[in-house]
Amino acid sequence: MAELEEIKKRLAAYDGPELRLMEVCGSHTAAVLKNGIPGLLSKKIRLLHGPGCPVCVAVSSYIDRLIELSLLPDTCVVTFGDLLRVPGSKKTLTAAGGRVKMVYSPMDLLPMAKEDPKTTYVFAALGFETTTPVYALLVKELEEEAYPNVKLLTALKTMPAVIDTLLSNNTKLDGFLAPGHVSVVAGEAYFKDLAKRYGLPFVIAGFSGEELLIALDLLVQNAGKGEVLNAYPKVVNPEGNPKAIAAVDEVFESGKASWRGLGEIEGSGLYLREKYRRFDAGSFDLFEDHMHNAGCKCGEILTGKAEPPDCPLFGTACTPMHPQGACMVSEEGGCNAFMMNG
Ligand code: SF4
Repeated sequence: MAELEEIKKRLAAYDGPELRLMEVCGSHTAAVLKNGIPGLLSKKIRLLHGPGCPVCVAVSSYIDRLIELSLLPDTCVVTFGDLLRVPGSKKTLTAAGGRVKMVYSPMDLLPMAKEDPKTTYVFAALGFETTTPVYALLVKELEEEAYPNVKLLTALKTMPAVIDTLLSNNTKLDGFLAPGHVSVVAGEAYFKDLAKRYGLPFVIAGFSGEELLIALDLLVQNAGKGEVLNAYPKVVNPEGNPKAIAAVDEVFESGKASWRGLGEIEGSGLYLREKYRRFDAGSFDLFEDHMHNAGCKCGEILTGKAEPPDCPLFGTACTPMHPQGACMVSEEGGCNAFMMNG
């Protein structure tokens, strides 16, 4: 406890050059704001929200395709709840009025598909390294049990290429709170190459207020050093989860993906390999992104160029009850988290 108090004092009293630190993970964004971390930091330490909320970075063409599928006869789109309210180019899945079911786990899809073989169930599979192993297991199950009526519309993404793009676009950043959940799967060394190439610290962080403060202190202490530090060692080990990595590699291959606010990025998406492609519902050409509301600044917020209150719609036309952009929908979205906890 005494050590934590020291850390708090150091972070509040920091008076060096301004540091712009990014948390890339949506769960970190929510936890940082819920724990009131920005208010504990010196004005010279700025925390920026990154592109790690899967719902927020999904492009409008992905939502539009889900809507098209939900309106087809004998077809049902299955998804997690957050996605239902994300605006596509014109509507949300809920407003479109197609056939949609909400689940809590991708595996919930299987009994539905078995009971109703005349319906094609399309799962909206989006997420990062953390959730991709579950989709790999789902696809293996589809293969083994020969489900003919289940498909995936994927918007699966991986972190390193998007961080590389942010940094090579000259976004001024001085370090990253590296995502704890992603690192559980991918291992401690996942961000090592980026840290070295850009000479920036990456600190793998947990999600409690204390863990976040410890990680931020390490980031500040190691500013300018190209290193990965693990401040979440009770959960993240050096090699990650080799079984999960192997399962993902067997089912998915890397490809170009489109990100809200960042456009197309080579090597930042995962797609079903040829062997499993019969389970794909058309995921390979979903690149267009048209904001539902032209005033929405989600793209800038996800890339650290703006903060939620910079958007003129924040808290007025756009609220968690009436989101105008993806960042206001999920509690992992910067605008939603800022609104609920800011
Ligand atoms: S407040 Fe709403 S409209 Fe503005 S950037 Fe956030 S999600 Fe988009």
